[in-house]
Amino acid sequence: MMHFRFAVVVAALSFLIGGCASDDEVAKVRAGWFKGNLHTHSLWSDGDDFPERIVTWYRDHGYQFLAISDHNTDQQGEKWVKYGDVYRKGSGRAADSYLKDFAASAQVRGDRAAGTQEIRLTPFTEYRPLFERPGEFLLIPSEEISDHFEKKPIHMIATNVAEVIKPQGGESVVEVITDNLRAVKEQGERLGRPVLPHLAHPNFEWGITAEEMAEVVEEHFFEIFNGHPLVHQQGDKDHPPVEKMWDIANTLRIAAFHARPLMGMATDDSHNYQVSGMTRAMPGRGWVSIHAKDLSAASLIAAMETGDFYASTGVELANVKYDPAARTLTVDIEPDGRAQFTTSFIGTLADAPPGDIGITLASVEGLKAIYHLTGRELYVRAVVTSDKSVRRPVWEGQKCQAWTQPVGWEARVVSH
Ligand SMILES: [Zn+2]
Ligand SMILES: [Zn+2]
Repeated sequence: MMHFRFAVVVAALSFLIGGCASDDEVAKVRAGWFKGNLHTHSLWSDGDDFPERIVTWYRDHGYQFLAISDHNTDQQGEKWVKYGDVYRKGSGRAADSYLKDFAASAQVRGDRAAGTQEIRLTPFTEYRPLFERPGEFLLIPSEEISDHFEKKPIHMIATNVAEVIKPQGGESVVEVITDNLRAVKEQGERLGRPVLPHLAHPNFEWGITAEEMAEVVEEHFFEIFNGHPLVHQQGDKDHPPVEKMWDIANTLRIAAFHARPLMGMATDDSHNYQVSGMTRAMPGRGWVSIHAKDLSAASLIAAMETGDFYASTGVELANVKYDPAARTLTVDIEPDGRAQFTTSFIGTLADAPPGDIGITLASVEGLKAIYHLTGRELYVRAVVTSDKSVRRPVWEGQKCQAWTQPVGWEARVVSH
């Protein structure tokens, strides 16, 4: 009887809380697929927790890799934070837990009672070995290059940087993006390591338009989803939603510039780890799942460059396969309790009237969805939407989704 009651209570609670199965549980590790978040903040810039505690959260929530991407820093050198400042940020309890849980490595100086206590922030190279396990968990060095043009913020994440990259500036939005991309490329070539740049939250303060995203054809990645509540994911009456911007940019790229489309990533852009709610930039909202050879920065980046990954806010895919010979795009979805899924195949047709950008070409219910390309598509991509709501929504009624990368464009593109 007790067990029965308990089960009923649990079922009722999970119904009330809702949420996709995959967004708050240790996800099943599927062979060759690695789940991670490439956009995170800590006390090294404007996040409100210590890197070790943030890494612990991600590791314990089923992520296999994480990049803490603080603003304009590579998290090296000496940095101390005043306990009083941390306390005023609402992170006093986090500081206490940090000093207890990481007592062996944490360093303090000064005196709390006298108001002079400071806590040292652990540099990346020192906290990294505390967490990394070959094949199980990887930390990737990163930076959010936080630049601007006039009042428009232009932020770019450089995944796997080795040295801090200063914002390069420029005389237009396009020039700022281009110059920062060049700096990332220069570092990668000079140090002989893969460094992956991606454009963050284009709608943050309406910084970047779809046309500008299209124009910088050297940029290959951007955030189709960013979990920060201020990034206007859904646009407004004067601005398209980020997903529509993706289609506008990709249509322009392929049709006008014969350039490859942007690939879409989902990230948390988490800053707030102490309190939850729709107005907070919480962890666990958006991630990428990458189909890679192994769990290393080089393999993850190589797989992303070939488009072998998807973005997610809670839908897990078992497989995504584009077969150019058979001209099919097949999506297999991982079951999630009784969740129902709708897969929409979105694309732009080469002979479409000018307004018909990113239209729904087909819609399929169930765990498997196949789209047969006709040859008229400039590209096609799939977005899978669950009837379950996400556990940590950014807007009312937000559903769990996954976005696959555009395919079928290869023959129309000359510059890669
Ligand atoms: Zn940013
Ligand atoms: Zn950020």
